[in-house]
Amino acid sequence: MSYVGPDFEPPQPRRSRRGPLTVALAALVPGALAGWLVWQAVGDDSGGASDRAVSGSSSSAPGSGSPSARSSAPATEDDRPSKSSAPSASSSKPSSKPAASGSLKGKVVVIDPGHNPGNFRHTAEINRQVDIGTNRKECDTTGTSTNAGYAEARFTLDVAHRMRKILEQQGATVKFTQDGDRSWGPCVDERARIGNTAHADAVVSIHADGSAAGNRGFHVILPGSVHAKDADTRPIVKSSRDLGERVAGLFVRETGSAPSNYIGDGTGLVVREDLGGLNLSTVPKVFIECGNMRDTKDAALLTSGAWRQKAARGISEGIVSFLHG
Ligand code: ZN
Repeated sequence: MSYVGPDFEPPQPRRSRRGPLTVALAALVPGALAGWLVWQAVGDDSGGASDRAVSGSSSSAPGSGSPSARSSAPATEDDRPSKSSAPSASSSKPSSKPAASGSLKGKVVVIDPGHNPGNFRHTAEINRQVDIGTNRKECDTTGTSTNAGYAEARFTLDVAHRMRKILEQQGATVKFTQDGDRSWGPCVDERARIGNTAHADAVVSIHADGSAAGNRGFHVILPGSVHAKDADTRPIVKSSRDLGERVAGLFVRETGSAPSNYIGDGTGLVVREDLGGLNLSTVPKVFIECGNMRDTKDAALLTSGAWRQKAARGISEGIVSFLHG
C-alpha cells in the first residue's frame, strides 16, 4: 500500500489535467493500446466494471475541473492521492512483444518490492524520518494486506520474483532493493539510491493499494517535476512517463484489469510529487499499484498465483518495451 506512511501522506493538493479517453488511447504505444482495447472489450465482464471510468468521464473524479484546478483529495480511508493527469502524447513506437531472448543484454532493471514483511516488527526504525528533498517522511511503512491477512509485502516480493525470472530470461541484469533478506526497510531514500547507484535503465516499484472496498483496478504512479534539495526529477519526468504508459498498457493487456476507478480519472496514470522513492530517483522510475487489497474482488486476483504471473508479465513487458524504445 501506499497510503500509509512515507510514500503516501494525507491529502495532498490534487491537479487533474485529464483529457478525453481518446487522448489517453492515442498516447499509448501500439502494444499498450492493444491492452487498453482488450480491457475495454472485457471490462464489463469482470464484475464491478460498470462503475469504472470506461468513458473517461470526469463526473466523479474529484479535482478534475479546469487544468489548473486544485482541490482536496478524496478523504476515503486510505485513498490519499495527490495528483493525477492524463498521459501526454508519446513519440514512442516500439514493439509490444517481449524481446527475443538475450535482447536485454547490458540493460539493468531495478525492481523495488514495496515494503518489507518484517517492517511491522521494526516500527521505530521505519518511522524514522528521512529527507526526500521536498520534505521529510517516514523511512518506510508496513504496507497493507487483504482482509484475510495476505500482506502486501508478500505480494510485492512474489511479483518481483516472477518479474526477475522473465527479465533475466531476456538477458537483463535485475537487481532488487530488498529480497526479504533484511529485517526491515530499506528506507524510501535508500530504495531510490539503489536504483541510482545501479545506473538502472528502468526501475519499477511494486505495490498493491489499501483503499476502500469498491475501489478497484490498478494505477501507475509517475514522478512529477520536483526540484528541491537532493530531489531533482526534471531529467526523468519524460522518460518515466514513457515507462509508465508502457507498463500500464501492457499490464492491461496481460491481466485484463481495468485502470483504477478511484484515482487517475480512468487513465490508470497518476502523477505525484510527494514520494521519496520517485523524488530522489535520477533514473526512469514508476510505481505500480496492482490493485486494491481491501476490495474483495481485487483481493481475489491479488492472491491468485496465476494472476500474479500475468501481472508480472505485463509489468515486465512494459519494461521491455521501454528498454527497446
Ligand atoms: Zn505499498
